[in-house]
Amino acid sequence: MIYPHISGNKYRKLKYNLEAAKTDGFDTILTFGGAFSNHIAATAYAGKLHGLKTIGVIRGEEISQKWETNPTLKLAFEHGMLFKFISRDAYRDKNSEDFINLLKSEFGNFYLLPEGGSNALAVKGCEEILTSEDIQFDFICSSIGTGGTIAGIINASHPNQRVLGFPALKGGFLTEDIRNFTSKENWQLQTDYHFGGYAKVSAELVHFINDFKERTQIPLDPIYTGKLLYGILDLVKKDHFKPKTKILAIHTGGLQSISGMNTKLKKKKLPQITL
Ligand SMILES: *Cc1c(COP(=O)(O)O)cnc(C)c1O
Repeated sequence: MIYPHISGNKYRKLKYNLEAAKTDGFDTILTFGGAFSNHIAATAYAGKLHGLKTIGVIRGEEISQKWETNPTLKLAFEHGMLFKFISRDAYRDKNSEDFINLLKSEFGNFYLLPEGGSNALAVKGCEEILTSEDIQFDFICSSIGTGGTIAGIINASHPNQRVLGFPALKGGFLTEDIRNFTSKENWQLQTDYHFGGYAKVSAELVHFINDFKERTQIPLDPIYTGKLLYGILDLVKKDHFKPKTKILAIHTGGLQSISGMNTKLKKKKLPQITL
């Protein structure tokens, strides 16, 4: 609800980074992401809005043949983003000094935003997710990708509140990543709700998302918020929370990924997410 194309937490994560890029005299932002990345979509749009050129380094060389059929990349392109497609192996090594220097020789100087946009300025932006009214809640729940968003929420939380993070991916080094950006201890991960891994979706999850929308009129995305709400309601069912506990679920946005996911679901003969 913050902004139609820079949805949810990605707006918060970009806010202070865009300011810094402009203050420091950069005219180009370079960042990384997968083919359905909300961060890629948001960066392209925000760049256009702020008069900054944007370059997206995209995971998967094979996508260079068919990126126009991908709604996320198509939208990013329409907002002026230039793409560089790299192999999954090269992508794993994307933060190395050699690779960054290679990018600089190809594109000139740029303001570098890490994958998912998580850095100290992104965390600062995410600290603004909570408002003083939110003190009434006992638990604050958020989905996790790279951990920047939840780190901001943890920083802004009251010590009496507990922050629960629901990773959208399997395994990884999230705990350490989050500790890099917060020194507080009032948080925990719920690692059972990734549905097989990042952007993995089952018929059960699709059914849950559609049913939730029908009952509440609130749309959820299949990669983050769908898994978050599924997890929260499952924990409620399993009496994880004491009666009368007040739970705040952060809707981080991400709805732009639904149409791309529906194309994938169709190929797998799985049900569609209702738009
Ligand atoms: C990127 C994203 C997240 C995860 O944010 P991180 O800061 O990477 O943990 C959660 N929800 C949505 C909708 C997102 O786009």
